[in-house]
Amino acid sequence: MRQSRTFIPTLRESPADAEIASHRLLVRAGFLRKVASGIYEFLPLGTRVVHKISRIIREEMNAAGAQEIMLPIMQPRELWEESGRWSKYGPEMMRLKDRAGREFGLGPTHEEVITDLVRKNVSSYRELPLNLYQIGSKFRDEVRPRFGLLRAREFLMKDAYSFDRDEEGMRLSYQTMYDAYGRIFTRCGCTWRAVEAATGLIGGDVSHEFMVPAEVGEDQVALCDACSYAANVELATYRRHETPRGEGKALEKVFTPDRRTIEEVGEFLGLEPSRLVKCLMYLVEGRPVAVLVPGDREANEVKLARVLETDEFRLFNEADWRDHPQLLQGFVGPVGLDSVEIIADEYLRGAGGLACGANQADYHLVNVEEGRDFRVHRFADVTSARTGDACPRCGETLRVEAGIEVGQVFQLGLKYSEAMRCYYHDEEGVARPMYMGCYGIGVTRLMAAVVEQHHDDRGIIWPPSVAPAILHILALDYQREERRRAAEDLYRACMERGWEVLLDDREESAGVKFADADLLGIPFRAVIGKGYDEDGSLELQERATSRRFRMDRETLLAHLQDTLDTLEVTAGGGGG
Ligand SMILES: [Zn+2]
Repeated sequence: MRQSRTFIPTLRESPADAEIASHRLLVRAGFLRKVASGIYEFLPLGTRVVHKISRIIREEMNAAGAQEIMLPIMQPRELWEESGRWSKYGPEMMRLKDRAGREFGLGPTHEEVITDLVRKNVSSYRELPLNLYQIGSKFRDEVRPRFGLLRAREFLMKDAYSFDRDEEGMRLSYQTMYDAYGRIFTRCGCTWRAVEAATGLIGGDVSHEFMVPAEVGEDQVALCDACSYAANVELATYRRHETPRGEGKALEKVFTPDRRTIEEVGEFLGLEPSRLVKCLMYLVEGRPVAVLVPGDREANEVKLARVLETDEFRLFNEADWRDHPQLLQGFVGPVGLDSVEIIADEYLRGAGGLACGANQADYHLVNVEEGRDFRVHRFADVTSARTGDACPRCGETLRVEAGIEVGQVFQLGLKYSEAMRCYYHDEEGVARPMYMGCYGIGVTRLMAAVVEQHHDDRGIIWPPSVAPAILHILALDYQREERRRAAEDLYRACMERGWEVLLDDREESAGVKFADADLLGIPFRAVIGKGYDEDGSLELQERATSRRFRMDRETLLAHLQDTLDTLEVTAGGGGG
């Protein structure tokens, strides 16, 4: 690529809406442009990176026995009705009608389409296992698209689906994908970890997310360094501290005027926040449910959904409070709350010496004991783990870290195959549902994650495996004949070897060339300047380390060859 002829519209200023490094740098360096909120154009350099990442994914998926196909983005409503997800997916699914009024969704995921394909075309145990994948555009109408490629509305995804005869086969397919994922993220230059994850709208029982640790990540992961327990905070468990016990003191009502927050009430009563019972009112499928958590914790709604076995719930809004006048907003407590179901966090089981709202304005109850003063219908784990909590496996200290989810794998079991009648015939001719798994990688999100892990204040630092080019040739004072000829020679030599290089053939100052090169982040740079005039040597610079080496042309080419060879060796090797 000749820089003078390549479409690389760099910017001096960051876009106003760019909150994080990957968004800022990919736009400034001319890899990306925004068309509309959460919708992007990939320019030549950005497209190259997407292709590099896609190639790594294809190599590892093919090596793992998956076969590439292409599925439509537009999916008929009828298929989504079969799985029950047409209504469940809600406004996140983009929907449209054709001229005849038939309804379609733009695929946020492809379980329905692939299950339909397989049920119509696979009927014998002999054809299983089967693993099919695609790399294509997905749509999710995010409430708040942000962070550039991290939360986009249209994005590129690799999704794979496995079909097996039985549960054991499904587990094997799952493990094969899990291992391939580790190799993919390692080859893309990412530090990553696999963590236990919630299954959400996709469904199934077992799932892992692949997280790239990054401060800007929207996911929180609970980790134990002692036993390697790792789980998304959405479902990470933790050992409760010893529950406080009561001393048999009589229940007492205390006047607590003008004290509303947990902190204010706790301070007034001289109690730790964990001794105060927070009584949260939820409307669950139209009926009120009280959820009790210790005052220093929040309710975890992903866990709550599992306990309630429904996604149809919300915290009381103003109208809900008006509809239930017997529940006094701000002073609800479990004592005497006989009309509603009470769910409490495990921590409160048998707890005493507690304080809670008295169901009366400006009053709280103290010396409250669970079991004696109120009854809980169900105890469950409904609060989130946080740094300092005890590991559920070994009891050592957990820490919570932010990460970007770049991939997720699911054991779906029979969820879709039973709902959509995706059956095969076994050796005896008996029809059985197929065990499915599904496996996603956010390709464009992975590109952003790579940048989050590889940049400095001057620009991007691409890992060689996904860089848009391996070498950036900079001839300083390009109009000087001998330097220009040396640059052209080197460019040609690289092209003959089939390498991807970028030649800065612009008549710009050295300062501009270096600043742009830093911003673009190509791993190696060959500078042709004063050294060349003196003894014909070039300067090889590493973007990642800023190290510089003076060498002749042949040594430089050999050095690059070594680097490229190493990348090839990494391919298909161990990882993670
Ligand atoms: Zn542990």
